[in-house]
Order: sequence, then C-alpha cells, then structure tokens
Amino acid sequence: AKAQGRNSYKIFDAQMHTQAVNRLTLETEIRKALEREEFIVYYQPIVDLLGGRLIGFEALVRWLSPTRGFVSPGEFIPIAEETGLIVQIDRWMFYTVCQQLVNWKTNFTHFPLKVSINLSAQDIRQASLIEDIDRTLAETGLEGNSIVLEITESMLIEDIDKTIDLLTQLKDRKIQISIDDFGTGYSSLNYLHRLPADNLKIDRSFVSQMEEGNRNYQVVSTIIALSNQLGLAVVAEGIETPQQLQWLQQLGCELGQGYLFSPPLASQEIETHLLKEDYE
Ligand code: C2E
Ligand code: CA
Ligand code: CA
Ligand code: CA
Repeated sequence: AKAQGRNSYKIFDAQMHTQAVNRLTLETEIRKALEREEFIVYYQPIVDLLGGRLIGFEALVRWLSPTRGFVSPGEFIPIAEETGLIVQIDRWMFYTVCQQLVNWKTNFTHFPLKVSINLSAQDIRQASLIEDIDRTLAETGLEGNSIVLEITESMLIEDIDKTIDLLTQLKDRKIQISIDDFGTGYSSLNYLHRLPADNLKIDRSFVSQMEEGNRNYQVVSTIIALSNQLGLAVVAEGIETPQQLQWLQQLGCELGQGYLFSPPLASQEIETHLLKEDYE
C-alpha cells in the first residue's frame, strides 16, 4: 500500500508538471497569436423572442491556431485571464468590432443593430479602460450607442462605488451595459437598483435545465419579474428548443440568443445570411 501511495504521488507530481508546462506553452502561444493576429470575431444573433426580429449580436472571440486548429474560449480565456493577456485580447476585440460596425453601417443602410462585447474583471481594473475606449471610438469613427458591454455579476461587487462610477462614464458615451451570467454569481440584489445597467442576461444553465414549474423555471421567472420592476430588459442565453422558447415567451422574456436561432457565425456568414436579406 505504501509503495502504491508513493507511486500515485509520483504520477500526480508528473501530471502537475505536465499541466504547468502545458499552461506555459499555451501562454506563449497566446502571446504569439496576438502578434500574428490569429484571433477572429464570431457574432451570435440576439433576437426579439416575440417577433423573431434580429436586434443585434454578441461578439465572441475565436482562436484559429495554425498548430492547434480552432481553440475554444473555454480553453484559453481562463489562462488569458490569469496572465493578464485577456486585456490585450479584449482591446483587440473592441477595436475589431468597432471597425466592423462602421463597415456594416456604411454598406447596409439603416443598420440598426447593436453588438455586445464581453469584458473581464482584468479589463475593468485597468485605469486606462475609458481612455482606450475613447481612442478606439475616435479612431474608428463609431458612436458608442452601437455598443453594449457585458460585465458579469461577480465582477461588480469588488468595489461597488468604483464600478458605478465606471459604468456611469460608459453611459456618458452612450454605451449600454449588460449584466452577464445573471444568477450564477454572488447575489447583487442589494445594489442592483443602483447600477446604471440596461439589461440582464439569464445564464444558459438556468435555461437549459428549465422544466415547467421546477426550481430553474422559478428562478427564471423571478429574474424576469425583478428586471421588469427595475426597468431592465432581459436576454435569455442558450435557447436550444422550441419548448424553452415557449416558456420564456410565457414568462415575458423579451430577448434571447441560442442555437435554436443561430450559433455564433463569422462576419462573412452574417453578411450573406442575415444582413443582405433584411437590410440591403
Ligand atoms: P458567455 O459570455 O456566457 O457567452 C455565451 C456562450 O454560450 C458562448 O460560448 C456561446 O457560443 C455559447 N452559446 C450560445 N448559444 C448557445 C446554445 O444554444 N447552447 C450552448 N450549449 N451554448 C451556447 P463561447 O463562445 O465558447 O464563450 C465562452 C465564454 O468565454 C463566454 O461566455 C465568455 O465568458 C468568454 N468569452 C468569449 N469571448 C470573449 C471575449 O472576447 N472576451 C472575454 N473577456 N471573454 C470572452
Ligand atoms: Ca457574454
Ligand atoms: Ca453569458
Ligand atoms: Ca454563460
């Protein structure tokens, strides 16, 4: 038993070593990927759940690595967050989305759509965030009112007064604020009414495990009622089935996104499948 114990310790040790090496390799590769511009923006449609009308997109980063192929955000975002590289990735995302929006506004008349962009905790800790946003808006010529920034619930509580100040500065630029993954973090019910937010996003975990009358159904119902009281719009994430859609409609949820409508798509696909039909 002793020998076995020692052995398994060794295996564990070796595994930890391999993990550490993998992380370091990934970190180096993310740095290179930034230099070589291997990141791509995908856009997932957000629709009006009652009429099915397209109202905007969520921008989601994709990494097309020459050696690894498509790497999912779930694999590299956590390491990018730990190493601080997420700040550069998100700056690149913000700039690229602004450029894309200027292009779409030029080529598709009456382009009324908004694009949501994700921010990490690291991004909002940067003293230069507002300055960087101003510079990008000035350089690309985009107005803030086409942009929504998504901030997760758990990022808000760190320093609530500082966060409110930051969000207010964003609102001054006509940028909208979305509270992402709502319901999964610490309860921010105490100060939710103080936040200058425009909408809440109900996390996919609630939507996917919803059954009429069960606990998740109740949670979704409560979030929608709460949002209505606070005057916030609600976006349901991860809608995959017509049944989920029907329940969300019943509960009065206005907006949603999910594979039932569309997966995230490359900008080229957005143009050929969505923009030409509706807006040209
Ligand atoms: P999120 O912000 O909650 O984004 C929604 C995720 O749900 C996306 O995963 C999207 O592809 C996925 N999704 C959408 N509809 C469905 C559905 O019907 N079923 C299922 N199973 N999944 C659906 P993705 O693109 O893999 O991104 C994962 C997470 O990585 C995001 O979660 C976000 O937290 C983070 N992320 C992605 N792009 C960025 C970025 O540019 N910056 C930052 N800071 N984080 C990002
Ligand atoms: Ca999001
Ligand atoms: Ca989300
Ligand atoms: Ca989520």
